[in-house]
Amino acid sequence: MPDLLLDLSHMREARERVDRTLDPSVLPVDDQAGFSVRTPVHLAFDLFKDGSQFHLVGRVEGVLTLTCGRCLEEMTPPVDLPFDLLYFPHKDNVGEGEVEVEDDDLTVAYYRDDEIDLGQLVVEQFLLALPMKPLCRESCRGLCPECGTNLNTATCSCVRTWTDPRLEGLKSFLDKDDRKV
Ligand SMILES: [Zn+2]
Ligand SMILES: [Zn+2]
Repeated sequence: MPDLLLDLSHMREARERVDRTLDPSVLPVDDQAGFSVRTPVHLAFDLFKDGSQFHLVGRVEGVLTLTCGRCLEEMTPPVDLPFDLLYFPHKDNVGEGEVEVEDDDLTVAYYRDDEIDLGQLVVEQFLLALPMKPLCRESCRGLCPECGTNLNTATCSCVRTWTDPRLEGLKSFLDKDDRKV
């Protein structure tokens, strides 16, 4: 998977433009990620070298495949995510928390063996952009809890606000009680 690794050892200039299209099959997306990628991902950034530090500023564009948290329909939102990352050489004997960075907006990452793992970079950007509960739309009506019908596209005859008439008396009693408090 040569496309996934950015070789830093051949960098001659202080600044380089990197533009790559990554095949989705090589991205390290695991089953627990909450999304999948089925189309090529475009990665374009400027790479700045400063000693052993590398600054990457650019964007990653692609299409995620997600499942709506309410209706379970598949959705494929396009994403175009800017990133600004500072890479330090990874040292096994130095705790990663010890690197001090003055600019809080920068995100620090680490590289090993003169290579930046672009697959990992892409997947991390996707994970950061992922909503806690993806919805196909804000007004998604979800599935009927009784029969599983997708209420966005169909209706069902389940009665969802059914109240046992024998409990009506108790309910009005409780309502009255509420008002007293
Ligand atoms: Zn939905
Ligand atoms: Zn139903």
